[in-house]
Amino acid sequence: MGKKSKIGKARKDKFYHLAKETGYRSRAAFKLLQLNRKFEFLEKARVCIDLCAAPGGWLQVAAQQMPVSSVIVGVDLFSIKPIHNVVSFQEDITTEKCRQTLRKELQTWKADVVLHDGAPNVGQNWLHDAFQQAQLTLQALRLAVEFLRKGGWFVTKIFRSKDYNALLWVFQQLFGKVHATKPQASRNESAEIFVVCQNYKAPDKVDPKFTDPKYVFKDVEAPKKALLSLYHPEKEKKKKAEGYEDGDYTLHQKLTITDFIRADNYMERLAACNEIEFDDAAIKAHPSTTPEILACCEDIKVLGRKDIRSVAPCALT
Ligand code: SAM
Repeated sequence: MGKKSKIGKARKDKFYHLAKETGYRSRAAFKLLQLNRKFEFLEKARVCIDLCAAPGGWLQVAAQQMPVSSVIVGVDLFSIKPIHNVVSFQEDITTEKCRQTLRKELQTWKADVVLHDGAPNVGQNWLHDAFQQAQLTLQALRLAVEFLRKGGWFVTKIFRSKDYNALLWVFQQLFGKVHATKPQASRNESAEIFVVCQNYKAPDKVDPKFTDPKYVFKDVEAPKKALLSLYHPEKEKKKKAEGYEDGDYTLHQKLTITDFIRADNYMERLAACNEIEFDDAAIKAHPSTTPEILACCEDIKVLGRKDIRSVAPCALT
């Protein structure tokens, strides 16, 4: 694991130093730059709201990439040091007060882009943290739905957790296209994914259940074929499913390396877990267990096809 954390650190340092060199306030700025390079939602935007924007890296990118004299509004629980051509205020995005302040700032304008990179105060345990982040994302969507113009963009971070598919399903009801992507600046071992929702449908009336956590996080569940995501992670399509499967694979499940190696149905076992734990020192120290494989085994759900082939080489030939 020591080697793995060195890899993570090297990666962090690269974007950390790059942020320092280029004057961005956060390494997160590169995630937005990379998302925008791919989808080009900022160049033509005239109005942008950045929810959970401190310290302001994404706001800096928006101010650079959007036309001069665009309207850019940022909000966060923490204050944001002034940025030229950007208005920011300190507020909790889940409150009515935040909504009112945004209304006052935007007046009759509608937003072309709503950004959300929110991370609640996490650190309790994976399930709790992921759920908090999903709730915050739904709050961000509520604001997006109110302030976006027809055809607008909503760009949000979400975690690959139990609620991931539920959120994707809701986005698909409200936007013409929904792209889930992981920019290079987002660390591989992080469960965060960025979702770029394109072409807001702006229905006359948005069904309130789409932004109601009681509905969203209860009635919509993960796709039934977990294996599909392992064999074809790039093709994985999210659907509204009818209910919970036995042994909901999206809960944080650990599988030991010895169970994995011995299992006849090792691909099913891999599909059902989030992490492979090395309970056998000899296997861990084996030359084939490279630092990359150790890193991959820490978060199975975010692996791409190439990573899965390295963890289970005979499976994807
Ligand atoms: N995109 C930002 C940048 O480039 O500088 C980084 C955002 S940082 C990863 C996540 C932010 O979410 C934190 O600044 C945190 O204060 C904010 N946040 C979390 N919960 C919030 C809430 N309920 N309302 C407003 N901001 C919130």
